[in-house]
Amino acid sequence: MDDVIRAVGYVTGRRGTILKRKKCIICDRMMVRGISVLGQFVCRRCEDGIVKTSPFDSDYDFYRDRFKAFWRTVSRPPACRDNIIP
Ligand SMILES: [Zn+2]
Repeated sequence: MDDVIRAVGYVTGRRGTILKRKKCIICDRMMVRGISVLGQFVCRRCEDGIVKTSPFDSDYDFYRDRFKAFWRTVSRPPACRDNIIP
């Protein structure tokens, strides 16, 4: 039963709770626990990494680049009918 649940993106938590796994926008792993940033999921491990990483750490560039890529996806101007080429 547990394997079937995992196959569709769910895991069984404590006390038998069914938890949905979500794809982290930073590490691309399917994780359960984390935060929502502008409607997107950041796993707890990446959240901790972002909070603890200073600009002098080797991981800083990784987190910065992933957030830049994410930001580009949410900062696009809304689709406008005038921009549609027939
Ligand atoms: Zn992550």
